Amino acid sequence: MVDYQSLLLALGVSAACLMVTLFGTWFSRRSDSFLLTLVIALFLTIGGIVAYSFYTLKAGPLGASVAYTLLMAGFSTIYSAALQFRTGTRRWRTAGLLTLLCAALGVPLMLGGLDGVGFIVMNTATALLLVETARQYWLARREAPGALIGMAVLYVASGVSFLLCAAVLLAGRQWSLGHAPQNWAENLNIGVCIASMTGIGALSLALHQWRMAAHHKRESMTDSLTGLLNRRALFDQYQNRRLHSSTAVVVFDIDRFKSINDQYGHAAGDDVLRTFATELVRELDGQDTVARLGGEEFAMILENSHPGRAEAIARSIATRFSARDFGAGSNVFRSTFSAGVAVGTEEGKAFEAVLGSADDAMFAAKRAGRNRVEIARHLRQVTGGEDRNRA
Ligand code: GH3
Ligand code: MG
Ligand code: MG
Repeated sequence: MVDYQSLLLALGVSAACLMVTLFGTWFSRRSDSFLLTLVIALFLTIGGIVAYSFYTLKAGPLGASVAYTLLMAGFSTIYSAALQFRTGTRRWRTAGLLTLLCAALGVPLMLGGLDGVGFIVMNTATALLLVETARQYWLARREAPGALIGMAVLYVASGVSFLLCAAVLLAGRQWSLGHAPQNWAENLNIGVCIASMTGIGALSLALHQWRMAAHHKRESMTDSLTGLLNRRALFDQYQNRRLHSSTAVVVFDIDRFKSINDQYGHAAGDDVLRTFATELVRELDGQDTVARLGGEEFAMILENSHPGRAEAIARSIATRFSARDFGAGSNVFRSTFSAGVAVGTEEGKAFEAVLGSADDAMFAAKRAGRNRVEIARHLRQVTGGEDRNRA
């Protein structure tokens, strides 16, 4: 049978290995700092395990207090790592305050000879922190259900094993011990902790990798200047879709954009592109999509669009955008765009074909003098073909 000291050693060693692995993973990218918080949490917990191990060999109120405080600091930081994972902000102050609160509750008991009560407080506080940690991962479960539900279960299991330790001391009315508690619940607790830590470590690494992959995917789909979807993302989403008559595609191209760059500089041109992108986003509704096709060309896909909605939207963007002042001082200038509108058909038409029609309509607007919204030719025939399109 393995003795308690050996189990403590195994727990300390596996925590140390996990800490080194997590630190290496965080260090190589330094993007997801919840891993760093977990590293700090493990460091404190290992300190607590070492102190507790010394305390089991040579009991005393001071040793008990040091082990207690370090372990509470470790578990408070584990909780703050979970909060950080879910909310994206560092919560080191929360960890510090929780540690102080736990120390204020338990250390006087340890020093005052009521170490049994101190251990009950420690086990109960740890159980609460671990269950609350589980709740944070549970609340975040939509991000990666398998891994996050697994983490929540393991944290709850560890929390329950700490609660059992408290319950055994409480049931035995062991208010003053003079040494580390020794009972079946303590042995079970340490076994559960070793198993959970291994599982939690593996899942934390998997989550980190998953987040990195999702981050890279998002980046590869996003236009860095405007934050809109890029051409690839738009095609990924629509390439294999057939658009029906309730779906409209609008292609926009800023007029004489090259001369804006030439006259006012590339930065002013970028400013125009960003502003134009925000004007497009303002018009989005529900399932609509907007993307930068490249350069100064953009596309909008309007779902559930009644006849005339796309045209009305393009015109309202034109009114607002053409009234915006760019540049500064004597270099103030304004900008316009040309747009083309096309819609799908009753039986469904390939996305690329509808986009092509909208593009043709946009070029027709250019030829007709720019600063216009033009409707695709086949639609104009249906609606009578009159030119209602001056933007
Ligand atoms: P038209 O009215 O016929 O559309 O004329 P245009 O000058 O807008 O058309 P053209 O396609 O000749 O010019 C597009 C310019 O957009 C050329 C390129 O330097 C510029 N451009 C492309 N991407 C960016 C960018 O990210 N930032 C800036 N500032 N300029 C860009
Ligand atoms: Mg162009
Ligand atoms: Mg242009």
